[in-house]
Amino acid sequence: MRCLFCKAPSDAATSVEHVIPQSLGNSQVILPRGMICDPCNNYIARKIEQPLLAHESFRNLRAWYRIPNKRGRHASLFGIIPGLDIGVNFRIGQDGPELQLERSGDAAAIHAHLEGAGENGLTAILFPHDMRPPEREMSRLLAKIALEVFALRLSETPVGVGCLIDDLHWDRIRRWVRVGDTPDHWPFHMRQVYPEETLMTHPVSGDWVQAGYIIDLLLTRRREHYIVFIFYGYEFALNLGGPSIKGYEEWLEEHPGLSPLIERLGLRLETDADATRLIGQPSLQAGIDFDLAQGVEGLWDE
Ligand SMILES: [Zn+2]
Repeated sequence: MRCLFCKAPSDAATSVEHVIPQSLGNSQVILPRGMICDPCNNYIARKIEQPLLAHESFRNLRAWYRIPNKRGRHASLFGIIPGLDIGVNFRIGQDGPELQLERSGDAAAIHAHLEGAGENGLTAILFPHDMRPPEREMSRLLAKIALEVFALRLSETPVGVGCLIDDLHWDRIRRWVRVGDTPDHWPFHMRQVYPEETLMTHPVSGDWVQAGYIIDLLLTRRREHYIVFIFYGYEFALNLGGPSIKGYEEWLEEHPGLSPLIERLGLRLETDADATRLIGQPSLQAGIDFDLAQGVEGLWDE
């Protein structure tokens, strides 16, 4: 086997590659062993996933909804003391709430501040809840997810994943993931399509659970391949073919108010006094087959 990203022989790879990071709640979507080599797997974890998941956007969303990381630990909420440049961590530990300084070097400053806060010692902490991830790392994560979803889909067909590795058309996005130097900037589209607390029925138990993520490929009228990913209501779309999202903006104009991962997959949103719910089970298989048939055709055209 060859690595999807660097094309080096990868039969000896031992690492398990989660298409969506495990710390975002994914335990199901995993690449077959050998589809990515160990050095690429390590690089992506260190340079893309870790900085993104530690950023206050993802960190506080994960902490707020108690999404555990791969070791089963919950992210701490990141807060700041207004007026001071001091960050704090808040988590619910075994013995109750715990508050720690983000940087231990701030201890003297915080003591001085608390002494100045008067007899009751009260001070305020702000916990930012603002889902604006750093653009570069987010774009590279989406690019990585896109190539891996594409590879998974192709590996389930007679076409196989070889054409994705050999076709030079995909070298540009591979390099964006692997090195990140050309181009400087690969834009993605981002919007909120439903509230963070939206519920959906669990595919196995049938219980109402919080909607975590939905993902699929989309082929537009311009025959551009997009990865579309919804995480807790935030929808991201990135073009695999090049750094432009014009085709996605056109899709949105042609389908006003819709999302490729909701109505197109047979889901609909309903809001009542209690909650917003995603109604229906996503007909992912239908969506996959539709896109794959056209996607493979698109590959051969180039
Ligand atoms: Zn590699």
